Amino acid sequence: MSASPPNRRPLIAGNWKMYKTGAEAAAYIEQLKLLLPSNLEADVALAPSFTALESALMAAGDSPILIAAQNVFWEDEGAYTGEVSVPMLNGLGVEWVIIGHSERRQYFGETDETVNRRVIAALAGGLNPIVCIGETLEQREANQTFQVLTAQLKEGLAEVDNRAAQSLTIAYEPIWAIGTGRTATTEIAQEAHRVIRDELERIFNKELANYIRILYGGSVKPENAAALLAQPDIDGALVGGASLKPDVFYGIINF
Ligand code: PEP
Repeated sequence: MSASPPNRRPLIAGNWKMYKTGAEAAAYIEQLKLLLPSNLEADVALAPSFTALESALMAAGDSPILIAAQNVFWEDEGAYTGEVSVPMLNGLGVEWVIIGHSERRQYFGETDETVNRRVIAALAGGLNPIVCIGETLEQREANQTFQVLTAQLKEGLAEVDNRAAQSLTIAYEPIWAIGTGRTATTEIAQEAHRVIRDELERIFNKELANYIRILYGGSVKPENAAALLAQPDIDGALVGGASLKPDVFYGIINF
């Protein structure tokens, strides 16, 4: 396991997407708890569907496993059928939330503006957002990657003040690497993470840029986790497919 700056202990987060009922989530977490050593060297989070959050929290109990929601709406309450608010997550005891995942952007019309509204509301309600950004294959091939990433950060994090920014985590997820089995090379990932950290410095300041964790996501598996996480600006992983089985996910946690 590589040494990270003390404030950037690795965070390995599993995004279960639309998989697992409450009972399946609880059974998984019971198995993962048995695998986790007492001297765990990474923070571990799991993001079940809304319907499995309560059983996941109960199964996680006082273990180090953090539970995250996969999305949150910006209004506290109102006529917004199908949405879930920050106070609702607070009421369950959920402290983490993924915002702006590329699947939300691709299939559900998320934009940097709606991402920003969710981020602002989540931070105001004391949640720790994991804000996802990343370029499409077309954007990468047109040499627009860095422009896209900096715009997503500028717009997605607009009006976030420096104090609240301490609760942020960024996930760099190149869309062409999500669920495709195609992982960014360590060089490509590190280069993008460096660009992201430089932009965080412009938006906030150097201290915060060095403090905020930047996770890599896109076909992370036990076989490629160590090389990715050895990069100086990669502080963890957001894992989709390989988080669905506890033993495989543990292979990444134990990179
Ligand atoms: C994700 O859903 O955030 C993700 C990175 O998926 P996968 O690991 O399956 O590519």
